Amino acid sequence: MRVAIIGAGISGLACAHELERHGIMPDIFEQQRRVGDPFNHVAVVLQILHRPVKDQLKDLRENYHISLRPASVLKKITMHTPKVTGSVYGNLGYLLLRGQSENAVTSQLLKQVKSPVYYNTRGDYEKLAREYDYVVVATGGSEITSILGCWEDVSLNWVMGSTVLGSFDPNAMMMWLNTEYAGNSYAYLTPFNRKSASLVLVASNANREEIGYYWKKFWEVEGFDYKVVSLWDLEHNSGFVYPHQVGNILFVGNSGGFLESFLGFALYSGIVSGVLAARSIARGWDYESCLGQLVANSKYSITLRRLLNRMTNKDFDHLVALLTTPGIKQLVYNTNLDFIKTSAVVLDFVERVKTLWPGKTVTGREKWKREI
Ligand SMILES: Cc1cc2nc3c(=O)[nH]c(=O)nc-3n(C[C@H](O)[C@H](O)[C@H](O)COP(=O)(O)OP(=O)(O)OC[C@H]3O[C@@H](n4cnc5c(N)ncnc54)[C@H](O)[C@@H]3O)c2cc1C
Repeated sequence: MRVAIIGAGISGLACAHELERHGIMPDIFEQQRRVGDPFNHVAVVLQILHRPVKDQLKDLRENYHISLRPASVLKKITMHTPKVTGSVYGNLGYLLLRGQSENAVTSQLLKQVKSPVYYNTRGDYEKLAREYDYVVVATGGSEITSILGCWEDVSLNWVMGSTVLGSFDPNAMMMWLNTEYAGNSYAYLTPFNRKSASLVLVASNANREEIGYYWKKFWEVEGFDYKVVSLWDLEHNSGFVYPHQVGNILFVGNSGGFLESFLGFALYSGIVSGVLAARSIARGWDYESCLGQLVANSKYSITLRRLLNRMTNKDFDHLVALLTTPGIKQLVYNTNLDFIKTSAVVLDFVERVKTLWPGKTVTGREKWKREI
């Protein structure tokens, strides 16, 4: 069987690895001259996002045969809003290197793959769909999915990030929620080590012209005195995808809508979607049916994103005060309660009850949004 994978990122390489386990050697097309983001940063895998899975790296190893070495274990998250600062502690997830270094996630994945990667080669999905039995779209973007009519935008963001020098706890991350510079998204700091860290601002509904202004505001409001050693920016959008397969073309990773809309994370679900696409190709399974849990999680995160989109700074203050209240923080962060699903289900219920209130009319679009 001949399979082409467009994109040697996280989901494309995970897909190739699983195909190889089934005796299929795909051809991988990568437009860059090497794998990995062209800048270094530190990604987080947050335990709270993927429950009931307790340890995502263990789950990837045991159920998807992908081994990843983290840079460190995440033991502390400090959240800042304009008026509240609170921390949570425990086994909260992992920090992983991104970029092109030897220990970056994509480099680690590439070492586990034997299939040929054709670098400096843009994959033309129409041509490949004619030449191969299957084409897996793993481009990290929505272009092909949109052309094929399967993509609906959910959250549009512009991101600016930097490597900064200072003094950091390698097991701790910081987050900031403040509409003054992040809109309804957020900013975060994740350490490479004790001396350097990634500082990233995700600004909702911003564009390239505006992001510099928000970045300046972020530094002014928070009063950082870190030394900046590199700076980058990019567009970062999430969307809802349906269906996930058109003819012999399958969508995985960000292209498959697996960048969750709540916080914009995709490492774990991107890898899982790549493996599931490979299994459905190799075993003749229906891809859409394999995706049940991942798609359900995407829907929950869209519900929570809709809530965040309506929040003010005052709401953020209340939220962080609540999440870091003794008792509640243990329940949310130190048990295996499926917080994302539970909150989404409760919110959805509240929304539905509101629509039953006399005088409240529901537009067709609101109804559709509620259903996705
Ligand atoms: C700044 C930033 C921070 C993030 N932080 C986190 C985090 O902390 N935690 C988390 O879980 N997720 C995080 N994410 C999200 C997650 O890392 C990405 O969404 C994930 O890499 C998506 O994987 P992918 O396989 O879909 O795409 P990618 O890993 O982006 O790979 C896509 C590849 O396809 C190639 N390509 C594109 N078009 C073509 C073409 N036509 N032909 C050939 N090759 C092509 C690209 O060059 C690229 O190599 C972050 C994303 C960004 C941008």
